[in-house]
Amino acid sequence: MLTRFAPSPTGDLHLGHAYSAALAHAAARAAGGCFHIRIDDIDGSRSREEFVAASLADLDWLGLAWDGDPVRQSAHLGDYAAALERLRARGFVYPCFCTRADIAQSLAAPHGPSGILYPGTCHHLSDAERARRVASEPHCWRLDMARAVALAGELVWEEEGQGTRAADPLAHGDVVLARKDAPASYHLASTVDDAAMGVTHVIRGADLIASTDVHRLLQALLDLPTPLYRHHALVCGPDGKRLAKRDAAAGLAALRDAGVDGRALAADLRAGRLPAGYSLQNP
Ligand code: GLU
Repeated sequence: MLTRFAPSPTGDLHLGHAYSAALAHAAARAAGGCFHIRIDDIDGSRSREEFVAASLADLDWLGLAWDGDPVRQSAHLGDYAAALERLRARGFVYPCFCTRADIAQSLAAPHGPSGILYPGTCHHLSDAERARRVASEPHCWRLDMARAVALAGELVWEEEGQGTRAADPLAHGDVVLARKDAPASYHLASTVDDAAMGVTHVIRGADLIASTDVHRLLQALLDLPTPLYRHHALVCGPDGKRLAKRDAAAGLAALRDAGVDGRALAADLRAGRLPAGYSLQNP
């Protein structure tokens, strides 16, 4: 068993992160397995080194010792490029030149589980036009979802304690796999890394369950193993809303400064006991 905690270093960790990390750590230790840290820092414009250091200090304070060195996504850009190339060679991706504004203005754009669905504008370009524009215009690479799903067929994953779940990648439309401003999207980088790290058990918040539709499809297309998944309830604040990076009071640094014992907090979180005012909720 190998689990991981994968913070994005775009802000300070809060109680929700601590809950997720405590569960992943406990699952690994209970099974005599490994617990790894992955720093999801492919978004160069938002990732900050100070948040990497602060996140590791928070995990240390919580007593959640990790195995090996933290993995940095920014050190694996070549792996994502190689995966994208494999998909490109088999005709599963196409370049898209639309701006966010183009997509938002398109009347054809309905909503899916993770936002506006791409209306397919660039799907219809000829090969000649694609080649010409790729050479001169900023672009991202999108998955040709219909084609990919037609090849992969029906897909499922095991949700721990709940049995088999059917993946519904079609609901997400032609998702972005490599961005104009970042060499890989979360979907591609996370799927490639979970396999490369040998993650057997993905434990993460229920806000990411819809992403698993897409990750399961990418596993099928790239011949990668499918881990077991557990999408856990989300920590909500006194206002009943799930915690966000702006909720400074739930920040681990604030709790530490207030004299909270990190190890005791991690033990409480593992047992589902939250500080007064906080609760666990399924979205
Ligand atoms: N880096 C992602 C986040 O902080 C988590 C990715 C994952 O667990 O798959 O939301």
